[in-house]
Amino acid sequence: VEHYLQKIESSSHLNAFVEVYADEARSTAAVVDAKLVNGTAGRLAGMVIGIKDVLSHKGHGLQAASQILDSYQAPFTATAVQRLIDEDAIIIGRQNCDEFAMGSSNENSSFGPALNAADNSKVPGGSSGGSAVAVQAGLCHASLGSDTGGSVRQPAAFCGVVGVKPSYGRISRYGLIAYASSFDCIGPITKSVSDAALLLEIMSGDDDYDSTVSTKEVPAYSASLNWEGKARIGYIQDTLENEAISVDIRQRTKAVLDRLRAEGHEVVPVEIPLLDSLLPTYYILTTAEASSNLSRFDGVRYGHRSAESTDLESMYKKTRTEAFGPEVRRRILLGTFVLSANYYDAYYTKAQRVRRLVREETNRFFEQFDFFISPVTPTTAFTIGEKTEDPLQMYLADVFTVQANVVGNPAIAVPNGFDQQGMPIGIQIMAPYFGEEKMLAFADYLT
Ligand code: GLN
Repeated sequence: VEHYLQKIESSSHLNAFVEVYADEARSTAAVVDAKLVNGTAGRLAGMVIGIKDVLSHKGHGLQAASQILDSYQAPFTATAVQRLIDEDAIIIGRQNCDEFAMGSSNENSSFGPALNAADNSKVPGGSSGGSAVAVQAGLCHASLGSDTGGSVRQPAAFCGVVGVKPSYGRISRYGLIAYASSFDCIGPITKSVSDAALLLEIMSGDDDYDSTVSTKEVPAYSASLNWEGKARIGYIQDTLENEAISVDIRQRTKAVLDRLRAEGHEVVPVEIPLLDSLLPTYYILTTAEASSNLSRFDGVRYGHRSAESTDLESMYKKTRTEAFGPEVRRRILLGTFVLSANYYDAYYTKAQRVRRLVREETNRFFEQFDFFISPVTPTTAFTIGEKTEDPLQMYLADVFTVQANVVGNPAIAVPNGFDQQGMPIGIQIMAPYFGEEKMLAFADYLT
């Protein structure tokens, strides 16, 4: 704990943490020490973990990096966080992210951007940017992020660490601030696949507080990291050829596929017919859900309330206008539009239908294949400010990550070397629904 507290202090320019619980971490460490001596310590004894500022931790600040939750404190602890605490993990602080987990660069945080530790002029990715850079820079052993369309995997790739988005319903969302409820997943960010497997195993499983969580038994992921046999792998040829993807990423992706082929795996180019529909489907459905989820922030129940209001109506409006950042306002507007009476069928209903078709396509794919392999991102980490003027460019970069959330399947990002500027590159493995066990074993074998 002392080591990490010093590291956090000396790396404060990275802006990875928005709050550090130094005294509490020290006293928890003392308790865990005593448990280690008397043999009652849990499986995460000594593991120092940071949590994204969207996860409730009773009695601690919780803001989703937004001013609308200014000075709000969580009244209970998220199930995923509680399960880590129950195994004697030490929570060291809450981490910077894009406001309400909306973004790909951590630039939408009301606490300012976090920086990539490999090059401080670059973004760490987002929305779990603080969580990824904290692991990259060695400010904690592991972080918890949330992934609605890539927010664990993309920053993991930009920072050269491991990020897992589990199957939808694998980990309880109780205590996770909702962005788009039918997409949101909590996931670990770690240095190794084995750490990710252990955290996943501990956080997963049935929970009375989340009716969408699966009652499926949780396999011992951390004990199953021994891949054997040959895998059937699909990939899209275009990801090796499309010039919108950086040359280094295409080459590194190809190198992995070549290696797997050489090791006797079946590696086959495939067509994914609805690929062009993924991003529109994702952005229509998630903004719709967000506009509904964020309606609770009205100045009455949580955090900030405008001092300028004259009546109830103006209180709602002024509070929300003052305290939501531009990207959150943009998404509330988009979501309200696609849900409005005149456009509901043209956008929302249609996107729901496309979502079902993509699911069917993906299921058909996994009848023939064990894994789908792709880059995580079309480019490595970009320069701070480079994409802020053009939100559409930012959205388009989510092309590889959103499929797993649209369909609900698990996916993992693992490091795959560096580009010529020394920025980390990731590679993504997507697996069948609830196929975490094999996915983690294969990811471990690959790394
Ligand atoms: N970059 C995506 C977005 O802006 C993903 C966000 C997320 O997964 N929370 O919506």
